[in-house]
Amino acid sequence: MTVMKKPDLDVIIIGAGVAGLYAIYRLRKQGLQVRAYEAGDGIGGTWFWNRYPGCRCDVESMEYSYAFDDNLQQEWKWPERYGTQPEILKYLNYVSQRFNVMRDVQLNTRVTAAHFDSGTNLWTITTEQGETVSAPFCIMATGNLSTPRFPKITGIDDYTGEKYHTGLWPKEGVDFTGKVTGVIGTGSSGVQSIPIIAKQAKHLFVFQRTANFSLPARNAPLEPEKERKHKEEYVERRKAAYSTPFGIAGYPPPDKFAAEATSAEREASYEAKWAEGGSISFLFAYKDLLLDKAANDTASDFVRAKIRSTVKDPKTAELLCPNDHPIGTKRLILDTDYFETYNRDNVTLVGIRSNPIERFTRSGLQLTDGKSYDLDAISFATGFDAMTGAMREIDIRTDKGADIREKWQDGPRTYLGIMVSGFPNMFMVTGPQSPGVKSQMILSCEWHVDFIAAAIEHMRGKGLTHIDAEGTAEDGWVEHNNQVADSTLYPLANSWYVGANIPGKPRIFMPYVGGVEAYTNKCKQVVDNGYEGFQMS
Ligand code: NAP
Repeated sequence: MTVMKKPDLDVIIIGAGVAGLYAIYRLRKQGLQVRAYEAGDGIGGTWFWNRYPGCRCDVESMEYSYAFDDNLQQEWKWPERYGTQPEILKYLNYVSQRFNVMRDVQLNTRVTAAHFDSGTNLWTITTEQGETVSAPFCIMATGNLSTPRFPKITGIDDYTGEKYHTGLWPKEGVDFTGKVTGVIGTGSSGVQSIPIIAKQAKHLFVFQRTANFSLPARNAPLEPEKERKHKEEYVERRKAAYSTPFGIAGYPPPDKFAAEATSAEREASYEAKWAEGGSISFLFAYKDLLLDKAANDTASDFVRAKIRSTVKDPKTAELLCPNDHPIGTKRLILDTDYFETYNRDNVTLVGIRSNPIERFTRSGLQLTDGKSYDLDAISFATGFDAMTGAMREIDIRTDKGADIREKWQDGPRTYLGIMVSGFPNMFMVTGPQSPGVKSQMILSCEWHVDFIAAAIEHMRGKGLTHIDAEGTAEDGWVEHNNQVADSTLYPLANSWYVGANIPGKPRIFMPYVGGVEAYTNKCKQVVDNGYEGFQMS
């Protein structure tokens, strides 16, 4: 008689960022024995690794926090309109201590493999140190922007100066004082860090391949009255957030198409939103900004005019004007003094679209036309293998021959961004084809963890042990996801949403852009219909 091995845990959680931490809390409340395995030497995920200067959330701090405990929301005090990385990390550490989460986190532990055995109905993970742990359920709380990527450019390892990646920034910080510094990349991370690095560096060269739209954040200390009111309304606001496209309440939805306003009215509307700061309010100016190119052009032109009027050197201004994508179809950036920074004498913008970096040298880099730059330090703000990268780095497979790298070789396929058909009992938090990155992330993490917790509870109540997504349900969801994306302007942009920043990555629109309201309604309907699309046994 074979003696079945007793699993080590009820649920393995991979990652102790926002999602993993809440999963520990939530599942433990159901009496489950859980443990999260985290590569970092601290918790916090994104907010643990991205310590670059100027790193700040682009969702307002009163929104960007957990909603699961009302006392927590009342007692935490955000100092500014937008949380800085240190402040958000402090908050996550506070939450961990307050709810005694740390006892179920194993730090400094990178998971290299996760294998499912159908005979035992167990997932077994293997860590870099060679430890193995088994449990019937495995939750990938591995994050969407957690696999930093240096560009594959000749000679990168020959460069002997200081080299940093915004997503792997040293804990002790970096002082660029007196240094000739390069920044490569002008996405959110580049745009947030450039103004601060410019203030320190002897000279800063910004190497820009693609110009991006950025709006002023208008960060400021949080007004006590605003905080008081928000806290008073927290419960209703959180509830209302689920009935919005981005999972954030408090922004009146648009009621007009851009063409219904005169050009003077549009100008006044954009001007007011520019002065207010923030991206949702701006994108909510008109109903069709993300649906109709002509409507979008009016907003894109407004921002281009702002860039031209801010940046004194006309050639630099022109180079900074985005011209290859409609505004909002790439993650809209929020900045503090980004365009103003190019008026400094110690900052030079170098366009590398038509004259790319040819190679790195021992002392800097050389462009294709032969011009070279000697640099004491280079900061790579070159982004991430987004959405699928972290899971593809783990050898995820089953004894029935399913392999995540093979399954996703033409792009991710998921059911609701929660499960992948053929990988039983493995859940994802904010996986591809869910609204995660297009929403207030913490809200989406809570939604998914609650969904997973309820599914496990449902199964336990019925004595079931096995759950998988049906292939047809997955096919239908992938198709729906693509149809929704194709009905918008999003696919027009070469963004990490479509994997365009990773050479060779299949081009497929990865986030669900039907909005949080439509998505959460679909999830509710799935549950009401007895977990429609999931097979349980
Ligand atoms: P990103 O948006 O992917 O930007 C990467 C930048 O590096 C782009 O400008 C890209 O140019 C450039 N780049 C990549 N490879 C290159 C190469 N070989 N040569 C030259 N340039 C190269 O990455 P990110 O700025 O780290 O931001 C990623 C996402 O993280 C954001 O969209 C956002 O969702 C999130 N984030 C949020 C915040 C916030 O909350 N405020 C802050 C930081 C990040 P191309 O565009 O030409 O590829």
